[in-house]
Amino acid sequence: MPDVAPSSPADAYAALLQGNARFVSGGRLHPNQDADRRSELAPRQKPFAVLFGCSDSRLAAEIIFDRGLGDLFVVRTAGHVAGAEVVGSIEYGIEVLSAPLVVVLGHDSCGAVTAASEAAHGGTAPPGYLGDVVERVVPSVLAARAKGHTGIGEFVDEHIHRTVDGLVGRSVLLANEVAEGRCAVVGLSYRLAEGTVNLVASHGLDA
Ligand SMILES: [Zn+2]
Repeated sequence: MPDVAPSSPADAYAALLQGNARFVSGGRLHPNQDADRRSELAPRQKPFAVLFGCSDSRLAAEIIFDRGLGDLFVVRTAGHVAGAEVVGSIEYGIEVLSAPLVVVLGHDSCGAVTAASEAAHGGTAPPGYLGDVVERVVPSVLAARAKGHTGIGEFVDEHIHRTVDGLVGRSVLLANEVAEGRCAVVGLSYRLAEGTVNLVASHGLDA
């Protein structure tokens, strides 16, 4: 299937939503997954979006957005927690590869958010480096609670929001790209059962 890569933030966002709609309806096109695409890309990649999502096995990026090789520059961690290497990887996607969109992808029933909620409720921190992940989600849970929210779904939305704001707040490179209109950052919440995404936060996109 011939496929022209989106080059503006709005077009990139629209392409992802269209792919997700195909996934939800069962009408996937599986674009850019053949040998021709593999050959075409071998010399260089030019992904149209950076996808920073939770590592949850049900959030496979190219599947739920019906995309293929070379389309998405994917960074995923449990609970989409963003340490320095993560921010650097996202900066690589927008600065070196010129992707016009960064998507933060969270989801309902997120285990990391649930663990953070339990830890914030006075439970014990999990062992090993698991604690490091949970520790980075706890502030979102506390912020949501301070607004009167009590459900995991609301904690997830707050965590997506804070992840988006945190990326733009910490990365000068990203903030500059957004300010100059070359890049947008959006936060999407994915529903595991339905396969749909919901816009939760946005910088630089009139949506
Ligand atoms: Zn998760």
